[in-house]
Amino acid sequence: MAKTQLMMLGPPGAGKGTQAKRLEDELDIPQVSTGDMLRDARRRETELGQEAAEYMDDGELVPDDVVIGIVEERLQQSDADEGFILDGFPRTRKQAESLADMGVELEAVIKLQVSEDEIVRRLSGRLNCPECGAAYHEEFDPPEREGRCACGSELTRREDDRPEAVRERLETYTDETKPLVTFYRDRGMLLEINGEGSPDDVAARIQDAIGVST
Ligand code: AMP
Repeated sequence: MAKTQLMMLGPPGAGKGTQAKRLEDELDIPQVSTGDMLRDARRRETELGQEAAEYMDDGELVPDDVVIGIVEERLQQSDADEGFILDGFPRTRKQAESLADMGVELEAVIKLQVSEDEIVRRLSGRLNCPECGAAYHEEFDPPEREGRCACGSELTRREDDRPEAVRERLETYTDETKPLVTFYRDRGMLLEINGEGSPDDVAARIQDAIGVST
């Protein structure tokens, strides 16, 4: 079977992670999230995690070489043999070129379109479980017990979901990552999907666009 190599593209808060997780279940290929990998490295206090921390908390990008290295290693693991869904990578032109140099031919780049007002609303209510990685939202997807994950741990907010960091992340997106929209459109890979509405609505649009049914 041919590999299914997909990529999620869009600003922070567009729903890339949420939709990548759904595709992971539907297509049985792993979500490869550089943000999750970096947060995991921080929790484990590795050298990589310590190097990444300051950039992340300020809403800036971790240097290309660092991120390219972890993705290259991750894609060699056997669970990615049948394909993967890249979430949060590539984020710069250099990363996009390095992905092509790794021999990765993306089948589709799923670009989620969401208004800036909606992004701010989504990010400001986001709650995460530091233990199991589950994600909630105060308004749209509240936990059953206030402030607690279903696994029992206390929910936290991401440091980079603070308003100042959100502003910085949006600027970083516009300057560094948005040019990839043209990059992938020019290569005929871009699928532009309306990312507003419920996660179910967005998932249905993605399924239509990539031609999978569940
Ligand atoms: P995310 O969870 O995708 O929003 O990523 C959180 C943070 O991790 C970003 O704001 C960056 O600081 C860092 N990061 C994640 N992916 C990348 C990447 N591909 N290149 C550089 N930095 C990244």
